[in-house]
Amino acid sequence: MSEILILFDIDGTLLRTNGAGVSGFVEAGQRVFGIDFSLEGLLVGGQLDPLILQRALDKLGIEHNDAHLDIFRPHYHECLKRHFDSGDRSAVAMPGVHDLLNQLADHEAFDVGVLTGNLRETGELKLTAAGIDHAHFHIHAWGDEGEARHELPPVAMSRWQAHRSADRVFEQTVIIGDTVHDVSCGKANGCRVLAVCTGVDDRETLEQTEADLVVDDLSDTDGIMSWLMRA
Ligand SMILES: [Mg+2]
Repeated sequence: MSEILILFDIDGTLLRTNGAGVSGFVEAGQRVFGIDFSLEGLLVGGQLDPLILQRALDKLGIEHNDAHLDIFRPHYHECLKRHFDSGDRSAVAMPGVHDLLNQLADHEAFDVGVLTGNLRETGELKLTAAGIDHAHFHIHAWGDEGEARHELPPVAMSRWQAHRSADRVFEQTVIIGDTVHDVSCGKANGCRVLAVCTGVDDRETLEQTEADLVVDDLSDTDGIMSWLMRA
């Protein structure tokens, strides 16, 4: 019986795209909304893609409209895919990620999912480009499934309960992420949080949060597995 749900953030945690994510986002934005579209001065790490789009459009003085995201997303997918296909920017799994996912899959105490600001199709594209098998993740909470990141753990929770046809509580859930926003979204819902210093926020910043554990990267898989089992 599975007792613990592990929810991974994608960018900066499972992988890095070496700039393909931001480049693809900006190229798609420029294609759809004009050449002045940019992410300059905007917070990107730990944010939800629809909110990043909304803030970029705010900068251009374009009034918010739900249709903007629908129009934007296939272009974003296409631009991101072109980066990966051409090899000019490639996605790379972070240290220890493959081993950790394999160990979690072998252990019946765990269910594994993603909780991310990415949209489904571009999140899956990044995982594939980094050689990470989607089959590892049975539970998903994507960037367009809440108005803010702290709304995503309840989405994951209801899917986990449906997946297992059983009641579950947030204390049985661990969020693994690279920013202060991953930490605050987890703690706001009563999850345990493992913060990893492979993304935008450094160790000093993450140690000032309520994260239950801060690690440099995910390469100490045995140590992390024992910590995860201490529910
Ligand atoms: Mg991240």
